[in-house]
Amino acid sequence: MTEPAKTSFQPISLKPTIYAGVFFALLLFGGTAGFIVYEGKLQKRADEAQMIYKDLLDFRSTLTLIDQQLSLAPERPEVLQEIIRNTKLLQFRSVNFQARAEKNGMPELASWMESRQLVLEKMLADIDRKRAGAGNSISLMILELDDVILHTAVDVRLSSEKVYDAVQLFFFIVLAVLVVIIISAGWVIVGNYRQTVMPLNQLAEKLRMVNEELPESFHDTAEEVKKNIRPKEFSSDVNEITDSIVRFCQNIELKNKKLDELFIKDEKTDLYNYRHFKDHLIVDVARAKRFEEKVSMAMIDIDRFKAYNDANGHVAGDIVLEKMAGIIREECRESDIPARFGGEEFAILFPRTDSTKAIEIVDRLRQIIAAEPFYHEKALPGGQLTISAGIATYPDDAVDWYSLINTADKALYRAKQTGRNRVVHFREIETDGGEEGA
Ligand code: GH3
Ligand code: MG
Ligand code: MG
Repeated sequence: MTEPAKTSFQPISLKPTIYAGVFFALLLFGGTAGFIVYEGKLQKRADEAQMIYKDLLDFRSTLTLIDQQLSLAPERPEVLQEIIRNTKLLQFRSVNFQARAEKNGMPELASWMESRQLVLEKMLADIDRKRAGAGNSISLMILELDDVILHTAVDVRLSSEKVYDAVQLFFFIVLAVLVVIIISAGWVIVGNYRQTVMPLNQLAEKLRMVNEELPESFHDTAEEVKKNIRPKEFSSDVNEITDSIVRFCQNIELKNKKLDELFIKDEKTDLYNYRHFKDHLIVDVARAKRFEEKVSMAMIDIDRFKAYNDANGHVAGDIVLEKMAGIIREECRESDIPARFGGEEFAILFPRTDSTKAIEIVDRLRQIIAAEPFYHEKALPGGQLTISAGIATYPDDAVDWYSLINTADKALYRAKQTGRNRVVHFREIETDGGEEGA
């Protein structure tokens, strides 16, 4: 028989794997939700920076317009009104800018806008008093604003880059987690395959081989399976399955043994039945023929059993049969085959036994039965229950198993004829002068 393949794997418990899987799944969901919120904020900030940038350009064009109006015709009342209106508009927008810049994390722009509010205030006063200082302030402010616009453009670019970087990092993390999950799942699947499917296949193969190799009547499959199992290498599920297979085999083997017994035993007397007796007789005669040995057999019949049955009933007769069978079993040797031949007749096969030994055993048996007290036996004609027996020996008295039964039967007939309660060997018939009266 081949040994099952050795494996260095230790059993994988599925619990930690499931916990780890749930943890990773939660991490993935939580991380994705967090990222969506974070990315939304970054995007909002980038959009706001973009808007501020556009508004700053607008702010600058209004400043340029005021500058042009101041240099062209500031003395005309409608132009002056326009200049004041635009300046006030810039004043209002600078307050608004300051708030948005603070909110969007642009402190430099916020403070610049705050300080420009005073400049615009002063500009309004200068315009009101028709002083030339207003034009200078505007030119200076445009120069400064160009610098601020440049800075804001850089901010806008950085904000967009942040969003892009965050998205890239997120996809990298997701990819890394997925790779870890796939590798872990693969490891668990391979591990479980090696600990469950593979050992189950080995077990099935082992069962098949054991059943092929063991002889029909001796199927210790459970023992053979147990011998080849190394529980530490397999998962607990496989060990449970193996245990139940072993238990199943043991049950079947137990039932098989009972069936075997039923097949070869006589139900009433618990002696072997005629089928088993005959099988043994055929084999033993063949062996005796091959090895030039002797085989003896006895045919035994209860004397006047009909009268006993008639007097005491069949139930009492059955008890006698069982009791006599017990005595026969006791007096036989381990290698003898005592059987119920049929009705109230028994047969005993004595392998490798000559006539002298067979006569000795059967005559002792006859004496024991004669001395044994049986229920209501006194009512019988002889006052006791006895047996008669005929013995024959192969190859002296027969040429095959079949004729051996016949010669033993003839010897029994002679025992009955000559008064019962006696043992006759077939040889005696011949020396007495043939089979007359048989
Ligand atoms: P003999 O000494 O010539 O053998 O006389 P016998 O009365 O024993 O012979 P016979 O063949 O006339 O009767 C055999 C009897 O054995 C008949 C039958 O009632 C009885 N018998 C056969 N089988 C059983 C059995 O299983 N149980 C019981 N109680 N009786 C049985
Ligand atoms: Mg009879
Ligand atoms: Mg009889």
